[in-house]
Amino acid sequence: MERKEFLKKIAIGTAGLATVTTACRNETTTTADGAPAIHTGKKYKWNMLTTWPPNYPIIGEGCEKFAQWVNEMSGGRMTIKVYGGGELVPALEVFDAVTSGTAEMAHGCSYYWAGKAPAAQFFATIPFRMNAQQMNSWLLCGGGLELWRELYAKFNLIPFPAGNTGVQMGGWFNKEINSIDDLKDLKMRIPGFGGKVLSKAGGTPVLSAGSEIYTNLERGVIDATEWIGPFHDYKMGFHDIAKYYYSPGWHESGTVLECFINKLKYEALPKDLQVIIESAALRLNLWMLSEIEAQNGLFLDKFINEEKVDIRTLPDDVLDTLRGYTEEILAEIVDKDPFAKKVYDSMNDFKNRASKWAEVTEKVFYNKIM
Ligand code: CA
Repeated sequence: MERKEFLKKIAIGTAGLATVTTACRNETTTTADGAPAIHTGKKYKWNMLTTWPPNYPIIGEGCEKFAQWVNEMSGGRMTIKVYGGGELVPALEVFDAVTSGTAEMAHGCSYYWAGKAPAAQFFATIPFRMNAQQMNSWLLCGGGLELWRELYAKFNLIPFPAGNTGVQMGGWFNKEINSIDDLKDLKMRIPGFGGKVLSKAGGTPVLSAGSEIYTNLERGVIDATEWIGPFHDYKMGFHDIAKYYYSPGWHESGTVLECFINKLKYEALPKDLQVIIESAALRLNLWMLSEIEAQNGLFLDKFINEEKVDIRTLPDDVLDTLRGYTEEILAEIVDKDPFAKKVYDSMNDFKNRASKWAEVTEKVFYNKIM
């Protein structure tokens, strides 16, 4: 009986859908928010700036895929040309370039903009917080994206989550890290928040452009470096010049990459192109995480079996101390910036619930089943 009722509902649903489709064809050309509902055939040629080296594996490649998907979904009405960092404007100037409308959109990572708005980094990653699954859930279904959009609206931008690295590695070292004192006087390439935490431990964070890290590590300009994970680190060749590869990436446990668009230009698009861009960003978000996960598995195997890399885990007490420093830095940030406090509270509320849930599911799964 229940099955019969269910089938009847589906039949009604399908008939309803047909009616809606027919009705749509006769509808006027604007939606409730004012954007044209039906495309006019107008063609759009946009530029996407990126903070990545041109064609950078997976991340730059993903941006090219995004452009291709938008082109295909729009039936060729929207074409997007992707530029590597420095090709049109320097990598770290893409934020201002999209705000001003020099380019329509960009792909990057929101922690680069912490100097403009301290709250921005919360939408990328904060040390000792959430993994990719939890970041996506907070952003897409837990109120995070609304806050992100509120913050970026002040810069005439609209952001979309559009990629994730998953849990990164802790980095490459030439000495063992057995206690927090081993980080003292250590010169390490580790940007942003992680670098501030290293400073608290008595180390010196060094900023090196991606292209200079290998040489700096080889020549002893730096003692250690973090980068991403096995796939990208293998391409950098760090295993040839560093002894130990430490886990985990306590400072980047699920870094969200972003696509942001000039808000006025986005709002002027026909509704269907807006939805196409949003859908392509979501697809990119999933594709990058999945591709990085797949490649990291393969390249970890290479490190272990072919390169005989010495893979270590940071001791618990070192991680606990770094976690304590993280909380001190967070308190300083939210003390000075009310919007950062609002975002911090939202993230923490979400994380506390997610942690309890993970405690009885994911944690047990990883400990007992994997
Ligand atoms: Ca990193």
